[in-house]
Amino acid sequence: MGKVYNWQINRDMSYPYEGKYPERQFAAVFNINRCIACQTCTMACKSTWTFSKGQELMWWNNVETKPYGGYPQYWDVKLLNLMQKAHDRQEKSMTWNGDDEYNGMTIFEAAEKEKTENGQSRVLGYLPEDREWTKPNIGEDVSPPKTTKKDKMGYITDPIKLPEHKSFFFYLQRICNHCTYPACLAACPRKAIYKRDEDGVVLIDQERCRGYRKCVEACPYKKAMYNGQTKISEKCIACYPRLEGQDGHITPDGVSVETRCMSSCVGKIRMQGLVKMNQDGLWKKDEENPIYWMIQKEKVALPLYPQFGTEPNIFYIPPRWAPRAYLTQMFGPGVEQAIDRYTAPSRELMAIMQLFRAQQEVIFKFKIKKGPKIYEKEVILSDGSTKGLSVYNDTVIGYNEQGKECVRTTVEEPMYERPGIHFNSI
Ligand code: SF4
Ligand code: SF4
Repeated sequence: MGKVYNWQINRDMSYPYEGKYPERQFAAVFNINRCIACQTCTMACKSTWTFSKGQELMWWNNVETKPYGGYPQYWDVKLLNLMQKAHDRQEKSMTWNGDDEYNGMTIFEAAEKEKTENGQSRVLGYLPEDREWTKPNIGEDVSPPKTTKKDKMGYITDPIKLPEHKSFFFYLQRICNHCTYPACLAACPRKAIYKRDEDGVVLIDQERCRGYRKCVEACPYKKAMYNGQTKISEKCIACYPRLEGQDGHITPDGVSVETRCMSSCVGKIRMQGLVKMNQDGLWKKDEENPIYWMIQKEKVALPLYPQFGTEPNIFYIPPRWAPRAYLTQMFGPGVEQAIDRYTAPSRELMAIMQLFRAQQEVIFKFKIKKGPKIYEKEVILSDGSTKGLSVYNDTVIGYNEQGKECVRTTVEEPMYERPGIHFNSI
């Protein structure tokens, strides 16, 4: 095993290959606070890429209800349990220190420490059973505890007692994270999985794959899937023809456009970008890029289970109403800070939030034209203190790959009054 630097756990970690970084990395921010679980993203992806024989149970994009939903079922609970057992055996703990450094073992380090005699496994993981892939929507909108009693007909006989606010759920939108240190790639004995130099998209070479399912076992997010018809594995391809600007219908000038799941998002919760990377594995400073601004500058969006160690590139603005301990296990130690920054957004963040789903082209740069103050309020932060929030009606402008303006909008949504006599007026 080599050593690579993982900025999400703030330390070097073991990985089977040397670090190699793309010029630009596919990355996205999902704002959990706004998702309505309409599953439009799920169906947009399905109808584009996974509608063939053998792909019936394959959902490259899914939206599950946490804490009880999961596709495949219990994917995160199962892996966290495996990790906990490995930590117990090694007398270690899965904790973070005050410098936001992860003290525990990643899935690569746990496998290294616990190597069996035949030493085959490079990644701690498990292969879900077939039935675990069959109910992508299981647990949708469920918040009662699992122990709730049901009668023979399945009706709850022991409903939640007041106060209701003690129960919670939120929607978790999931696609392949196009990880910087992909576990699927690390585990593949055929070297059939690769990460593209131009955009960091992780792909499975369909010619080389022999369907050993090592990637399915290793991916901690369970986003590599097996096709029983073709007998090879498949995964999200980040709609790379769209990233390459190949869809002449949408982009006659050949600029990058966002993926199908992003651009179809009804709740306007998703924004995708391509961020510049250095050869040391860190992101190049680029404060004009809205994705860079949200993740590196404001730290309002966090990776999913950073302790797994794959350095995922999908980032989440955590839900404000969910218990902090649960969220910290899921998104790492920056949860309170991220929620506070979202609750009382800076002027720049407020402007960037307006760019979510205001266009299909990938935004590489944003600019703000200052407008008048329109609103003032005191907001309560996580520690109970208050902070003044001022909202300005700024204009935010987004620029595409070629530096051309592709979107212009304001913080306050403009209102249009229809003329009195209208063609469909009675
Ligand atoms: S999320 Fe899973 S399938 Fe996607 S790159 Fe990471 S390890 Fe591979
Ligand atoms: S389309 Fe958007 S709002 Fe609807 S489920 Fe998907 S992520 Fe959530």
